[in-house]
Amino acid sequence: MNEETQSGDAQDPVERLAAVRHEFGEHGGVNMSVEASTTFTVLEAGTMPDIFEGRLGPDTGGCYLYGRHFNPTVFVLGRQLAAMEGAEAGYCAASGLGAISAALLGLLDQGDHVVASDTLYGGTWAMLAEFLPRKCGITTTFVDIQDLDAVRAATTPRTRVIYTESVTNPTLRVADLPKLASLAHERDAKFVVDNTFSPLAITPIEHGADVVIHSLTKFVNGASDFIAGAVVGTEEFIGCLMDLHTGPLMILGPTMDPQVAHAISLRLPHLPIRMIEHARRSQFFAERLQDIGAEVAYPGLPEHPDHDIFRRVGRPEYGFGGLITVDAGTRDRADQLMEHLQNVEGFGWMAVSLGYFDTLMSCSASSTSSEMTDEALAAAGIAPGLVRMSIGITGSVEQRWSQLERSLKHVGIV
Ligand SMILES: *Cc1c(COP(=O)(O)O)cnc(C)c1O
Repeated sequence: MNEETQSGDAQDPVERLAAVRHEFGEHGGVNMSVEASTTFTVLEAGTMPDIFEGRLGPDTGGCYLYGRHFNPTVFVLGRQLAAMEGAEAGYCAASGLGAISAALLGLLDQGDHVVASDTLYGGTWAMLAEFLPRKCGITTTFVDIQDLDAVRAATTPRTRVIYTESVTNPTLRVADLPKLASLAHERDAKFVVDNTFSPLAITPIEHGADVVIHSLTKFVNGASDFIAGAVVGTEEFIGCLMDLHTGPLMILGPTMDPQVAHAISLRLPHLPIRMIEHARRSQFFAERLQDIGAEVAYPGLPEHPDHDIFRRVGRPEYGFGGLITVDAGTRDRADQLMEHLQNVEGFGWMAVSLGYFDTLMSCSASSTSSEMTDEALAAAGIAPGLVRMSIGITGSVEQRWSQLERSLKHVGIV
């Protein structure tokens, strides 16, 4: 591979990313080629057992073996993401949940225990609350991750993982990563952070996280056209995930397609520009919404309960993220607001997911968090009329603001 890593001790994720020079295309193209092969030849039959036993690999004088194990194109994207997050190594998965399940099953054995934030992406919540206990005997205690005493009190001698999202979905609370990391390490547990909501703005590894996960389906992708995920951590941990006998990425097989890896790799260079613009517009809308008396939450507002945590753990030059929430009061009002915004104003789309170039809106309690029980929703502070908006970067800001303001007035929210 013609791959040089010159990241050295670059402090900034964008600088680290720029220092990963991926290989040239097959014909000298400026973009790498897609390695569209599922299997790879060896020159001498005798090397095959060494490759299978892990004694020879692509970086140790051997070669690639089989696409579910390692594919060079997917490998490059994993390295880029590891550089962005300041981790030793990274590898990709077919989805964010594929990355999360692989990371958790890589860290946990039957009978182990997790302490997790009570405000998580619905699929992650279902995995921890329902799937893992039933299928694997791995249990989870959910706590308010802002309450460090509660986190400490929930740990048991079997706690191997403390799990949170850097910015929680959909309540936009910001986890105090350094404190949670030391708490985890005091208890000999690993600290796992889903950083899907805040690429670049927050780099959890720098604050003590052991494993960082991304759903690449969201901001990193930016065009809502691929489902993809990644996990980064130590070289040793990523290696374990690929183990031919017990590695969950290998054995469960949530393999990323090299075409997807190639496409996503080409979007990383403009991720900083996109994140800054998503955040600039979110900040603008949040301030105006606050001015006109709407119930808005955005970590960039000084009034947000975790504004100071975000300033401390984040990089405000990449903004405070691209999501805002507006509490419409009731589910009906939320529905009316979203319908007016989409069908009358053309402001955005009623759809789950986030990080798209257009605005996406959903009522969390009845969509992305609907896996949660009513009690869990209430405990997590997810109000029935809470509208989550992933603020897009199309159109002009003034045009979008007037659309939003007209809809809010139309349904009587302001
Ligand atoms: C979407 C999302 C996931 C799941 O990712 P998929 O790519 O849909 O599997 C996990 N965590 C967060 C925070 C998400 O937003």
